[in-house]
Amino acid sequence: MSLNFSENLVEEATGKENAANFSSTIADTSASSDSLFFVKGEQAIPVNQLPQSWQNIHAGKSNTKLSDPEAYVKMAQLFFHKMSSGDVDLFNDSEKLGHLKPAFCEIFGKLAWEALDFYGEDFKVDKYPDFDSIEQELPPGEDYAERQKIVEIGKALFAEFGYDLPASFYQVHLAPIYREDVSEVRPLRFSEEDKNNARAWDASLHGQKVFPIQLMVQSISSKHGFFQEHGCGCNHAMTRVGVTDTSFDYQIRPEMRKTWIRDFIWTTWYEYAFFKFVPVTRFLVS
Ligand SMILES: [Zn+2]
Repeated sequence: MSLNFSENLVEEATGKENAANFSSTIADTSASSDSLFFVKGEQAIPVNQLPQSWQNIHAGKSNTKLSDPEAYVKMAQLFFHKMSSGDVDLFNDSEKLGHLKPAFCEIFGKLAWEALDFYGEDFKVDKYPDFDSIEQELPPGEDYAERQKIVEIGKALFAEFGYDLPASFYQVHLAPIYREDVSEVRPLRFSEEDKNNARAWDASLHGQKVFPIQLMVQSISSKHGFFQEHGCGCNHAMTRVGVTDTSFDYQIRPEMRKTWIRDFIWTTWYEYAFFKFVPVTRFLVS
């Protein structure tokens, strides 16, 4: 496997220290079979080859409150291995495309690193919104009550998922309170105000393709008079529950809770990685 990352490119996204770590990670992995590591029979990257933030989570030195940090670290080890060494169906099912594998590893190894680097930070306690002070600082106005409902939904989501979902999951939910109208539809990718957050926010919304997580979000929102909308021109909005709509109650079955949360995290990571890789057109958002 040959992975010659441009230091400039890596630096741009992850900072110089991490760029150096990334290069040595790839060098170590290809140079030594001693570094082979397995999670339940599947090959993974050793912890010491993950971004520093994940090494800190593993060592208990990160200010995170994950209920099962070791499981998240194992997911990071698996994720980075699969993306940086092309351990995906595209190559595993057939050798025909083998000649493309080095390019895949180079591109997706870099994107996976960016994703893990981001989420290793995004799980830190100080990244999460302070719902009470946000509520206290809501500007008075005719739609004050609606903005307050959005904050209440955020609080209820946090009561449900806490620090097991990343800070950006809550931030994208709160975003409509800072819009002119809480129900304004925003094309995240193309909006000046949102473009710096679009990658993480879109990943978080796409993570809700894990249906039980979305059902929970919509159930909580509906009880406060809203539904969350997202289409894949990347429009995002909280829309008011109409007179003919009805709120609904949904609970995640306790025995499936861990599974759905892990599915959400995994999906969010690859959606973050793929964000710049998907075809986009303004035709879908106009
Ligand atoms: Zn989207």
